[in-house]
Amino acid sequence: MEATDFAPRDADRAVCDVVVVGGGLAGLASACALADAGYRVQLLERRPYVGGRASSYEHPGTGEIVDNCQHLLLGSCTNLIDLYRRLGVENRIQWFDRFTFLEPGGRRSDLYPGALPAPLHNTFSFLAARAFTLSDKLAIARAMMALLQGVPEDTAEDFAHWLERHGQTRASVERFWKPLMHSALNDDLDRLSVRYAGMVIRSSFMSSPIAGRMGFPTIPLSELYHHAVAYIRARGGEVLLRVSAEGFSFHPESHRWTVMGQGIRIDAGAVILALPFEATQKLLPMLPALASGAQNKLPDQLAHFEHSPITGIHLWFDRKITELPHAVLLDTTIQWMFNKSLLQPQTRANAAGDYLELVVSASKTLVPMQRQEILDLALRELAEFFPAARQANLLKATVVKEVRATFCVTPGLDAHRPGPITAWPGIFLAGDWTATGWPATMEGAVRSGYLAAEAYTRNQNHEQKFLQADLPVQGFMRIFG
Ligand SMILES: Cc1cc2nc3c(=O)[nH]c(=O)nc-3n(C[C@H](O)[C@H](O)[C@H](O)COP(=O)(O)OP(=O)(O)OC[C@H]3O[C@@H](n4cnc5c(N)ncnc54)[C@H](O)[C@@H]3O)c2cc1C
Repeated sequence: MEATDFAPRDADRAVCDVVVVGGGLAGLASACALADAGYRVQLLERRPYVGGRASSYEHPGTGEIVDNCQHLLLGSCTNLIDLYRRLGVENRIQWFDRFTFLEPGGRRSDLYPGALPAPLHNTFSFLAARAFTLSDKLAIARAMMALLQGVPEDTAEDFAHWLERHGQTRASVERFWKPLMHSALNDDLDRLSVRYAGMVIRSSFMSSPIAGRMGFPTIPLSELYHHAVAYIRARGGEVLLRVSAEGFSFHPESHRWTVMGQGIRIDAGAVILALPFEATQKLLPMLPALASGAQNKLPDQLAHFEHSPITGIHLWFDRKITELPHAVLLDTTIQWMFNKSLLQPQTRANAAGDYLELVVSASKTLVPMQRQEILDLALRELAEFFPAARQANLLKATVVKEVRATFCVTPGLDAHRPGPITAWPGIFLAGDWTATGWPATMEGAVRSGYLAAEAYTRNQNHEQKFLQADLPVQGFMRIFG
């Protein structure tokens, strides 16, 4: 990845239509959409690379380029896929339609679509899956039947309670619902909104085979998203890396903003704050007070957001450990194995051994643990699934704890997620945590960026549409919607 610094063309002051603050997926999506629509855009990112929470960097201890964590998308992520198309990187996503569940000892169960129409497309493989008993399967099917009618409302009920109401067995909870929800929503079942849990199940297993397939980037994340920098610049925009926005002033006579940060002043007609919720919280006091006092609603909304951590354990071995590209590991602390040697083949072209990343979502118990303690645990558990790990030499390893990985979709949160329009004229919000209807995902972030860009064009009386339609459901799901 080439991470070039860029100073504004006009020494310390630049003029543009929109300043986008934050070079994560939300900021990149809004900047790309607006630049393509002919607006002059300046994007400020405080780090030396774009991608935000979906990025890669050279790890100082190992000298390897590592993703901050394995990121995957589903076929239902229509807006993220649209961004990939814009950037010309859609061929950098490798698609899989098979979920592999491994039990300790190595017994394998695969879920994959067969000939039956949706929502029955996974039925044959599900019936053959040995990780679940007949009563587990009947319980899971019962829960899925309850979701046929549509995604449930976001109420005060949590998903653990909902599962209990729908007669789930202990093993179905431990081996199916927990791994699925931990990886998709990054929190414990009793902290999850039923709406988001229902949405994950419907798109992963019910809507259509294409909605449920899993996509993995074949190149490191920052390399993938760095294409957005060229895209914005090619359309007359600017991306300023290593620049934090630190202050804002509004000029009522011209209705324009000055955005300030590290020796930079940019004059803009509008500002899109595309930041995580905690960074938005930090910047709010820098915005001018409004006479109406209406801006006070946002801090109250922000107070309802919480984080959940994810831990990635990166292991480089001297030999092959497995031919599987990825697997859900049952009955353990480590939840997923991602075989980076297969998922990002060109980055490991000359290596004889496997590079594996193990991921633990909702990893609250791992956060206080020491690196070596986590490595010992991970290696011990890995060997229960892959005997080759016992004989292999570990060449290098690193543990990446993302303490503020995602916001939690707790029951009732929807009522507090703000839309893109704020009480300040010309200030718009984006970020995965805003009101997109999606959980903390790359898709949610891109949706928020497109929504903020649409709101800006509406404000200009030149409304444009950037948001992509959801995938149509298939088969019998057309009856249920
Ligand atoms: C460990 C981990 C695993 C994940 N796994 C998945 C997955 O498998 N699939 C999936 O879809 N999603 C996954 N996610 C979630 C996904 O990465 C996020 O939802 C998404 O990237 C958020 O994008 P964003 O643009 O909203 O925010 P961010 O990515 O946080 O971007 C905000 C940007 O703003 C910058 N910034 C902050 N303050 C300032 C300032 N004052 N001035 C300028 N810039 C500033 C930050 O440096 C950052 O680059 C994962 C996240 C983590 C952390």
